[in-house]
Amino acid sequence: MNCRHCSARLGLQMVDLGSAPPSNAYLTREALDRPERWFPLRVLVCEECWLAQTQDFADAHELFDGSYAYFSSYSSSWVEHARQYVDAMASRFELGPDALVVEVASNDGYLLQHVKARGIPCLGVEPTASTAAAARDKGIKVIDEFFGTSLGRRLAANGQAADLTAANNVLAHVPDINDFLAGFAALLKPNGVATFEFPHVLRLLDGIQFDTIYHEHFSYLGMLSVDRVMRANGLTPFEVEELSTHGGSLRVFAQRTDTGRHQPNGSIERLMARERSAGLDSASVYAGFQEKAERARDELVMFLIEAKRAGRRVAAYGAAAKGNTLLNFAGVRPDLVRYVVDLNPSKQGKFMPGSRIPIVGPETLRHQRPNDLLVLPWNLLHEVRAQNDSLAQLGTRFMVAVPRLTEA
Ligand SMILES: [Zn+2]
Repeated sequence: MNCRHCSARLGLQMVDLGSAPPSNAYLTREALDRPERWFPLRVLVCEECWLAQTQDFADAHELFDGSYAYFSSYSSSWVEHARQYVDAMASRFELGPDALVVEVASNDGYLLQHVKARGIPCLGVEPTASTAAAARDKGIKVIDEFFGTSLGRRLAANGQAADLTAANNVLAHVPDINDFLAGFAALLKPNGVATFEFPHVLRLLDGIQFDTIYHEHFSYLGMLSVDRVMRANGLTPFEVEELSTHGGSLRVFAQRTDTGRHQPNGSIERLMARERSAGLDSASVYAGFQEKAERARDELVMFLIEAKRAGRRVAAYGAAAKGNTLLNFAGVRPDLVRYVVDLNPSKQGKFMPGSRIPIVGPETLRHQRPNDLLVLPWNLLHEVRAQNDSLAQLGTRFMVAVPRLTEA
C-alpha cells in the first residue's frame, strides 16, 4: 500500500489488531443469521511524511451509510465542548449576522445549534442521512454530501464562502486527506479560518489507546504530519491548542496560504519540537506498541474469564467504535460480557459487530445490576460514572481496559 498523502510505499507497521468488521456495522436480530465481512485492521506509517494510516480495504461509502448511528448529542460533555468552542470563536473572530460558519461533519447539529442561537448564519455538511435529518429538525441547513475540493469550490462559487469552518473528528476519518483539505482552501474567504480537531497520535502512543484504531479512522495525526499535508494543499496552520477530548486531541487553526493574514503565535513550532523529541519522525517511537496493546488485551481476557468462573455478572457501557475494536481484538463474546448499555435508542435492540453482544438501554442496568461494568469509552468514564452513581453505591465496580485494566 502507498501513503494516502505522498504516495510513498508504506513499509513500517505500527500495530496489527487482527481483523474486524467495520466498527459501525451494528447488527439487527435478523442479521445474526448471516455472516459478517471482516477486514484486516493494521496501522502502517509512512517514513517519508510520518502519516500513520489504517491499511486500505474498502470504499468509505460502504462504511458511512445512511444508517450510521453515532449521534453527537448523546454525549452531554461533547455538546458542552461545542458550545464553548462557538463562544470562543464568535468573540475572537467577531462573527456576526454577516458571517458564515460552515461545519463539515455537522452530525446532528450538536455544534451549529449554538451558532444559530447566536444569530450567525451557518451551514452543515453531513453525508449521513439519519444525523443530517436530526440537524434539520433543529432548523439547521444541511448539505448531505461528502466534503472535498469539488464541494468547497461549488459553495464558494455560490456565495457561501466561509469566515469560519469547523471540522471536528473528521480529518482522521477521510480516505482522501489531500482532496479534503484542499476543499477548505477553496471554501474559505480570503482571511477566513479553518479549525480542525482530531486525536493526537502522540497521545495514542503514550496512552496505548489502541482501541481508537478502526477502519473508518484512516489517519492518526500529529502536528508534524498535519503541517506537511496542509501546506501541500493550500492551507497554512498558524496556531494549535491541546485539548483533553477523546484521550487528547489537537485543535489546529489554519488559513489560506495565498491570502491569510493571521499571525502565528509560536504554538505550532513548540508542538512540532516536542513531537520531534518524542521521536514522531522516526521509526523508534512505534516499536513496542504491539506488545503493549496485547498486554492490555490479555489482562482484559483473563479478568473476564476469572469473573465468569466466579459467577460475577459483567456488562459493558457505551456501544461505540472503541468498544468494538477492543472486544473484537480480545475475541470477547456474550458469554463473557452479557450486554452493552447505550443511551442511543437507534442502537438499542441491535448487536455489536463481530462480538454480537446485545445492546440495551440504561434501564437494564437498574434491573440487572451487574457486578462489574466495563466502560468502553474510557474518555467518558467520569460522565458515565456520575450518571450511574446509584449503581456504584450498590456495589457495581466500574472498570476500564485501556491502557491497562483498572478499577475506576
Ligand atoms: Zn507519506
